[in-house]
Amino acid sequence: MAVREIHLLHDGYMELDMGMLVYMKTSYYGIKYQAALKSLLIVTDSEKMLVDTGIAPLPPSLARFVKYRKDTDLMGSLSAHGVSPDDISVVINTHMHMDHCGNNSHFRKARYIVQRDELSYSKNPDRFMRGGYVREFYEHLNFDTVDGRQLITNGVTVMDTPGHTPGHQSVIVQAGDRKFVYTGDAAPLLENIEKRDITGIIYDPKKELDSIDRIRTEGGEFIASHDLLQMKLDLVVR
Ligand SMILES: [Zn+2]
Repeated sequence: MAVREIHLLHDGYMELDMGMLVYMKTSYYGIKYQAALKSLLIVTDSEKMLVDTGIAPLPPSLARFVKYRKDTDLMGSLSAHGVSPDDISVVINTHMHMDHCGNNSHFRKARYIVQRDELSYSKNPDRFMRGGYVREFYEHLNFDTVDGRQLITNGVTVMDTPGHTPGHQSVIVQAGDRKFVYTGDAAPLLENIEKRDITGIIYDPKKELDSIDRIRTEGGEFIASHDLLQMKLDLVVR
């Protein structure tokens, strides 16, 4: 068993203030950023796996504040690769924020994998974190929970990277001789990793910095969840 293909998929863009992407970087405050919503399709010998599922229509209370647009969406992006939702056997959520699990319910045959700490936090987030979680996206689903670093299938490992949220995780993929780390929002931008500057939406800054350092130590090619500098990856292992 091995990873045969990796493709970066897209679910449009969400408008964020850049100040939300790098902690206390005041020169970014007030600058609008069209954050890319990226998912990863991983094809192994026996499975088609998806990492994160983008965003879906929001309840009215949030729809007034959160702007997103879709010129491409996840379903279109999947079908462009000849994959239907029912082909997906595993969905890994880096965390349960609305822009990472919005379309989970489309994948009816998949098992969903999230860190135990994230799932439990998402059921009752603190007031200051509540705006990020939309329960309608996940409360009716059954999840397989994991704790810390765990092999999911040959070539695909999840690694706990808490800080942005209490139970955030990143995904390590070994594809042939190339290694990738899909950072999730442990690093929404590549600069979070390159400069060791933590993200601006933060539950625990100290743990977030530790997570970034562990991602740097892990090494490989980093795929940052929202960075516009990095929009294409289509790898077929020969
Ligand atoms: Zn995000």
